[in-house]
Amino acid sequence: MSNIQFIKTSTPKQRPDNDSLQFGSIFTDHMFVMDYSTDKGWYDPRIVPYGPFEVEPSLMTFHYGQAIFEGLKAYRNIHGDIVTFRPLDNIARLNRSAERLCIPQVDEKLVWEALKKLLEIEKDWVPDGEGTSLYIRPFIIATDPSLGVRPSDTYKFFIILSPVGAYYAEGFKPVKIYVTDKYVRAARGGLGYTKAAANYAASLYAAEEAKKKGYTQVLWLDACSHSYVEEVGTMNIFFKIDGVLVTPSLEGGSILGGITRDSVITLAESMGYKVEERLISIQEVYEAHRQGKLEDVFGTGTAAVISPVGELNWNDNIIKINDGEMGEFSKMMYDKLTGIQYGKEEDSFGWIEKIC
Ligand SMILES: *Cc1c(COP(=O)(O)O)cnc(C)c1O
Repeated sequence: MSNIQFIKTSTPKQRPDNDSLQFGSIFTDHMFVMDYSTDKGWYDPRIVPYGPFEVEPSLMTFHYGQAIFEGLKAYRNIHGDIVTFRPLDNIARLNRSAERLCIPQVDEKLVWEALKKLLEIEKDWVPDGEGTSLYIRPFIIATDPSLGVRPSDTYKFFIILSPVGAYYAEGFKPVKIYVTDKYVRAARGGLGYTKAAANYAASLYAAEEAKKKGYTQVLWLDACSHSYVEEVGTMNIFFKIDGVLVTPSLEGGSILGGITRDSVITLAESMGYKVEERLISIQEVYEAHRQGKLEDVFGTGTAAVISPVGELNWNDNIIKINDGEMGEFSKMMYDKLTGIQYGKEEDSFGWIEKIC
């Protein structure tokens, strides 16, 4: 779609070397931007130099949090191609989030064209090296300069890119997780199934408290009974109990439907594993552990792919999973998924979209 304007930077940046990469602190030379107004719809799609922009202090997003985002990655695979993993699912999810937050729908085809064009321009920014990638952050903010409580009439859509290092540069370290029955991330009927900035704001306090106690993240229980497992930190969660893979179902609307989650379910089923999407109480998890049937616990998300859980603390009842080592299933799934992403394994489900 050639109506995407391109203004090239006159001051290209020095690219970082692979070893110094952290998560989300360096941005590439260019970004994609488009604007929305009620009368024009989305207009002026353009790729411009990455940089700050000026806004009014009354900008609606600052006050009422009408903001959503996505997160996906571009990889340099072992053949030297730049590829993305299920990007159209991310764009579709952006529109589901948009609907819930009264943000106008984007044209998914246009966003995909924009992303491809941006990635082609920035292809040299995709790091090479095991586990490295270019993190892609599309987001939408409400831009009316107004304090009235209502959906904004104007918006900005951005895609920014950030080269990121290997999540497991020092090998897999299963995380210690604090089970909270004091704080909740999302309630039924709320924003839980959307990638809304507000969900992250809601999660910070509990995560900080868990960190002070020496835990990496929080395991969230349902907002109503505080007994059913929902998510772990900003990831979906899986349990392998007596050979069966169990993950909370998305039915209640308080859980984010992760693309990694869906990929794990699809792969596991294709390998002959039984997968159950259902309610699972923290009680059941502890009971399975007591009976020696809790074989693996892991989080799933784009950033870490698979994040093995080595310890749970629920009201000071501490259980260790696989003696704090990474489980066999976690490792196998990590190798399988990253194998597909980096071109070492066959892409049987058509998940890979080649950029260039
Ligand atoms: C983004 C996110 C996930 C993981 O989704 P992926 O599509 O797998 O990256 C899980 N839970 C929450 C709350 C999230 O925001």
